[in-house]
Amino acid sequence: MTRLTYTSGSLDADTDAAYEAELAKARAEGSPELGHWIAGEEVAAGEVFERENPSFTDEIASRAREADADVIAKAVEAAKDARVEWRRTPYAERNAKLRAAARWIEEHVPEIAAILSLETGKTRIEAIAEVQEGIDLIETYCSEIERNDGYTHPLKSFSDNERNTETLRPYGVFGVIGPFNFPFALCIGMSSAAMVAGNTVVLKPSEEAPWSAAKFAEAMNAAGVPAGVFNLVHGGPEAGKELVDSPVDGIAFTGSAEVGRAIAKRLHEGPYTRPALTEMGGKNPAIVTANADVDKAAEGIARAAFGLSGQKCSACSRAIVVEDVYDELVEKLGEFTRGLKVGEPGDPTSFLGPVINEKTVARFEDAVEAAKADGRIVAGGGRPDLPGYYVEPTVVGDLPRGHRLTRDELFMPFVTVTKVADLDEAIEEANAVVYGLTAGIFTEDDAEAEEFFDRIEAGITYRNRRAGATTGAWPGTQSFCGWKSSGTTGKGGLGPHYVPQFMREQSRTVVS
Ligand code: NAD
Repeated sequence: MTRLTYTSGSLDADTDAAYEAELAKARAEGSPELGHWIAGEEVAAGEVFERENPSFTDEIASRAREADADVIAKAVEAAKDARVEWRRTPYAERNAKLRAAARWIEEHVPEIAAILSLETGKTRIEAIAEVQEGIDLIETYCSEIERNDGYTHPLKSFSDNERNTETLRPYGVFGVIGPFNFPFALCIGMSSAAMVAGNTVVLKPSEEAPWSAAKFAEAMNAAGVPAGVFNLVHGGPEAGKELVDSPVDGIAFTGSAEVGRAIAKRLHEGPYTRPALTEMGGKNPAIVTANADVDKAAEGIARAAFGLSGQKCSACSRAIVVEDVYDELVEKLGEFTRGLKVGEPGDPTSFLGPVINEKTVARFEDAVEAAKADGRIVAGGGRPDLPGYYVEPTVVGDLPRGHRLTRDELFMPFVTVTKVADLDEAIEEANAVVYGLTAGIFTEDDAEAEEFFDRIEAGITYRNRRAGATTGAWPGTQSFCGWKSSGTTGKGGLGPHYVPQFMREQSRTVVS
């Protein structure tokens, strides 16, 4: 099996054929009626909801049951029952179980990737890379607790008969709520970090991709993770709210800023504050200076803006370009964009699949109208004649400064290009949004790059990245921390500070 990330590697013929066979099968059969996983058992409770196939909207991709308050309460209860034993299990044994799940996933890459394409519309390269990311997230977090030897350290003592240590301990039960765009990797990332740290988990994945997330439950069962350590409940916002309102000890959430901030607020109410680890949206800029290689910049911006149809939290949605190279950049970005193929994910020549749902199509149409009225469409703006939620990758120039299309997260293949006088103004414009997730710069000048890294308000930053101006972070290679409205803790996923966020400190003084 070829190893792919979001920015490197290509498929071999065997992987291609295996993926295509699995996609045809998944599309023909759809999912079974997915139940919840509670205490190691599948529970068929609640109304069935259907997830349509966004690439062929007259087809159903998956069916799952909506968890009600009773189902959520049972799942949280199961997680509470399992937490003491799991907490007391040595971390090496916990890691062994999680790594066994990773091996199971490794043996099912084409099948899981096909389900991801079916439910989310992502292309084969994106889908296979997402499965690989899930595997690498487990390995990264297992390695972190090993590198830190379980996060227990000796402290100073002032007398011979006193021994002082400090240790990080799990909170207990974490509720985990996932987004639609990386329904496999991010549910794995949040859940596995919580479990590596010794917590038990109730996961509620996105209602747009229940089947993708259910494959993780299958991996956990196949790995022999003890009953109750990992539980999964399906459903939409109502199920999410129930989980947030339940007596969990903390929530890990990835999704929109609006929902994430409401969850954080809720967890700060009540008799005491509980941890809310929230990773949220972005409005990610790429700056192009007068000293940029403009070909590199145009390609890097297009790849970051239109990969996964602009539905990555790290997608580039704003190009901010110094006036000396503005016209050249606009022309090259437009040209590169017009060369990108929109098509069904099963077609190996598609660069973009559909967007996730009808609401996103409506948001696209509204943005195109506003762009026509207040700016200029450089490329795209239309809808291909295909039987799903397809929209064209779109480049918009000449909007007035501060226009809403340059401030709000749109989450679709839509990038604005703003002209500025110099780097100073470019950084000001880049920072003029509430978000602070990813940012890129194209410049061949080291001093300019240093100025950018020092002043940019973003947690994930890149210079001269042709493969994706603002996208493509990978576990252990980049950390992934949202600043401002893109996160709440000042520490992110993928890197060395993630697992400890699922733990709290205890110092132990023993006098003999
Ligand atoms: P969303 O906020 O609409 O939904 C995310 C999850 O929250 C879903 O499971 C949903 O059912 C649940 N939910 C919705 N309302 C809820 C409520 N009131 N209480 C509890 N749960 C609720 O986000 P989405 O559309 O699935 O995902 C796209 C968003 O996620 C974008 O804003 C994107 O930038 C962000 N995102 C961020 C990161 C990151 O790492 N920072 C990664 C991926 C996606």
